[in-house]
Amino acid sequence: MAKAKETLNPFEIAREQIDRAGKKLNLDSGMLEVLKNPRRELTVHFPVKMDDGHIRVFTGYRVQYNDAIGPFKGGIRYHWNVSLDEVRALSCWMTWKCAVMGIPYGGAKGGVICNPKEMSKDELERMTRRYASEISIIIGPEKDIPAPDVYTDSQTMAWIMDTISMNKGFAMPGVVTGKPLVIGGSLGRDEATSRGMMYATREAGKKVKLNLRGASVAVQGFGNVGSHYARLMHDEQGAKIVAVSDSKGGIYSDKGFDPKEVLAFKEKTGSVVGFPGTREITNEELIELPVDIVAPCALEGILTSENAPRIKGKIVAEGANGPTTPEADDILHKRGILVIPDILANGGGVTVSYFEWVQNLSEFFWTKKDVDEKLEGIMVSAFNRVWDMRGRDRPRRRSVQVAWDFPLGARDESPRSRLRGRHPTERVVPP
Ligand code: NAD
Repeated sequence: MAKAKETLNPFEIAREQIDRAGKKLNLDSGMLEVLKNPRRELTVHFPVKMDDGHIRVFTGYRVQYNDAIGPFKGGIRYHWNVSLDEVRALSCWMTWKCAVMGIPYGGAKGGVICNPKEMSKDELERMTRRYASEISIIIGPEKDIPAPDVYTDSQTMAWIMDTISMNKGFAMPGVVTGKPLVIGGSLGRDEATSRGMMYATREAGKKVKLNLRGASVAVQGFGNVGSHYARLMHDEQGAKIVAVSDSKGGIYSDKGFDPKEVLAFKEKTGSVVGFPGTREITNEELIELPVDIVAPCALEGILTSENAPRIKGKIVAEGANGPTTPEADDILHKRGILVIPDILANGGGVTVSYFEWVQNLSEFFWTKKDVDEKLEGIMVSAFNRVWDMRGRDRPRRRSVQVAWDFPLGARDESPRSRLRGRHPTERVVPP
């Protein structure tokens, strides 16, 4: 009998991943049920006046998955494919990510079904402010802290912060992270996800004996995560970036190129496609290139059972959330390709978001060096914990405790009690 086609529904995938991890961790069925269901889901339909004067009703979501180890935390996505199941999956992955990184946050996610590429800046601002107002009943610095995700950025966060602050009557920087610096953002937050990914790739390279100097890298998705990752791998690790892509297509050159020049080109033309000295490739071709490191940094469901047998990289660094299906994971594992999972690889973003929130609450700001050093300590420590866990194959009764195993100390206090009393920076030391 032919094998049923694998699901690409992100929430079904997330739940299957929980089942698989639960089996390894020997979790009981009741605990699995808890972990497989979001705690709270808010769906909002709200009107926005478009530039031509007509009213359009948008649908948005905020899903709060789990706050066992701290306030809910997660990005907001603007995309035409946003669905409740996608937001549920992303909020679920945020929960595990914060636990893996040892950050005292739970997981959440938000999204609005829209095509931001076809909207003016004024329309985006009106939509963002109205969406922020709709979800304001469940967000806040001590409850749930949004951040940027696909097609949202620091400007989006500034609008959200302003909308919430207007209604409170005072500035509330701690309500979002990924803000512009002038209103309380953190140095290093713009590149944090990618910097963390670079540290994770460096550690993975040591394990599989891959020298990053001269190693060839293909990056799918040349947005916030992908473009900074390509730059940092090129500038700080001496890797050779041979391919990058965006939603319009990709470029390839076996000689490699400087990602900073590609970014300048994309800013002028709107796409990486057509960058001089490269040939055009599709996003599907990019993933299967004969390179050392493949970095999917766009959307979920990219590596499937269909293309996994043809992946040639030694390392897959998951910059995107959920780019690999469980079936593809099995195939890559059997083929000896090391996958750095999203909940570790891109955990640098939420780590520096956490730093930003701590700086906002303590009203004391750090240097870029402080941020990068603390991020590196947390990434390396999380990488090693995951690597050690990977080496252990036996069922472990106490493993549910892993989520509480903060490298930051203070596990005897709840995050909220810490918020109320203590100076937050006291706990933030590299593990
Ligand atoms: P972004 O909007 O800045 O960039 C997305 C990029 O992907 C763009 O270049 C876009 O052109 C490209 N893209 C869109 N559809 C594509 C397609 N079908 N094929 C190839 N490329 C496509 O978004 P981002 O913030 O860089 O997020 C990218 C991924 O990283 C998402 O999965 C997001 O959830 C994840 N992530 C982001 C952060 C963060 O800090 N921004 C943190 C952790 C994880």
